[in-house]
Amino acid sequence: MKYNFWFIVGSQFLYGPEVVETVENRAKEMAAELSKYLPYPLVYKVTAKTNQEIADIVKQANYDDTCAGIVTWCHTFSPSKMWINGLANLQKPYCHFATQYNREIPNDEIDMDFMNLNQAAHGDREHGFIAARLRMPRKVIAGYWQDEAVHKRIGDWMRAAVGVAVSKTLKVMRFGDNMREVAVTEGDKVEVQTKLGWQVNTWAVGDLVKEMSAVSEAEIDALMAEYAEKYEIATDNIAAVRYQAKEEIAMKKMLDREGCRAFSNTFQDLYGMEQLPGLASQDLMAQGYGYGGEGDWKVSAMTAIMKAMGEGGNGASAFMEDYTYHLAAGEEYSLGAHMLEVCPSLAAVDAKPRIETHHLGIGMNEKDPARLVFEGKEGNAIVVSLVDMGGRLRLICQDIVCVKPIMPMPNLPVARVMWKAMPNLTDGVECWLTAGGAHHTVLSYDVSAEQMRDWAKMMDIEFVHITAETTVESLEKELFLNDLAWKLK
Ligand code: MN
Repeated sequence: MKYNFWFIVGSQFLYGPEVVETVENRAKEMAAELSKYLPYPLVYKVTAKTNQEIADIVKQANYDDTCAGIVTWCHTFSPSKMWINGLANLQKPYCHFATQYNREIPNDEIDMDFMNLNQAAHGDREHGFIAARLRMPRKVIAGYWQDEAVHKRIGDWMRAAVGVAVSKTLKVMRFGDNMREVAVTEGDKVEVQTKLGWQVNTWAVGDLVKEMSAVSEAEIDALMAEYAEKYEIATDNIAAVRYQAKEEIAMKKMLDREGCRAFSNTFQDLYGMEQLPGLASQDLMAQGYGYGGEGDWKVSAMTAIMKAMGEGGNGASAFMEDYTYHLAAGEEYSLGAHMLEVCPSLAAVDAKPRIETHHLGIGMNEKDPARLVFEGKEGNAIVVSLVDMGGRLRLICQDIVCVKPIMPMPNLPVARVMWKAMPNLTDGVECWLTAGGAHHTVLSYDVSAEQMRDWAKMMDIEFVHITAETTVESLEKELFLNDLAWKLK
């Protein structure tokens, strides 16, 4: 889907046709200029002067699948009772951009005509009031429209809004059920579909095995050539790699046929398969598909959404699991990995991920599964977990700083990422556990906590952010108040 955003500018008839025409021309100019710096086009739509114009443009926005959101601005004063009928029907993400055409107050030129034309300072206040009065979930961004920092903020919001569009049409394919007895990977699929739009359904592993048996050797040869291009084949067990290729091809066919952008499976249900998909799942993730292990369809869906929110529509976001800690005083780190399935979008750029085969003791693997092994890159990142609190969904986000792993761990047969959690390892763990965050997360280098906050706001779900400033005490208070507030909502 090629998404765009609509620029809707508020005005009124009071100032006469010349002013309205000037507003319209400037709005067109600004939308065109801004589009050069934004990840998605900002398309000028209307200088709205009546209730009908606003109601009409909102109706059009709601029904246009390519419109991922609206951006409003009031160049002049736009009495906002005329916005009520439109805004009350708005079903798309909404950003109020508070800016003005001129950067500076022109000392000599300024007179009452100038003031009447350039009065966003109070026009935007009228507009802000009505959205607040209507309790509209929206993003407010203030700043000069030619500033790079402003472009970055609008761009980030656009990506979060695209995450909303992706979420609302997302289909998740589950191969088998969740891992037996596990609580945190469970959830109310009806609630999730109502709130987030996800269509989560199950396909039998037998269907996948049937699809695999129909994959040709020529198809496998073609994918093996791609593997050889992207990865270093560091195993003699080529048969195991070819088996993963067969799994990948079959899964991709089923996903694409059903329009699914995310999938989950579990090592407890591999009936008829020789290997848990490792390399197969990793290479699918690299193409933008979401994945969750142990039947964790929530993390799978979140991975797909956050990938779509990232750079170029497929960013460095991946399914991750908190595995083990390094608790040396002053040098505390978390080590994240999974038994196989870590997306190579996290890999450090200086070395190609290696395809290796190793024994996997967990699950019913008849053969040693092939998987990509690599180190994660350095940089600021977040980990995100969506949990079902019973009656509502909670999105937990923690700031982390990824480092080059402090030791080579030569006998660890899986991809690994090492990080420092905020505010520090132990307080961070206490906060995470207090909030009920899962062991499975989406780790992202290019989606920010602010974007996840915006996304949660647009989806109308609870958002909890663990930062360098968070204390266990402050978080406990926040969670207590959240509980009360969400019961009233
Ligand atoms: Mn796991």
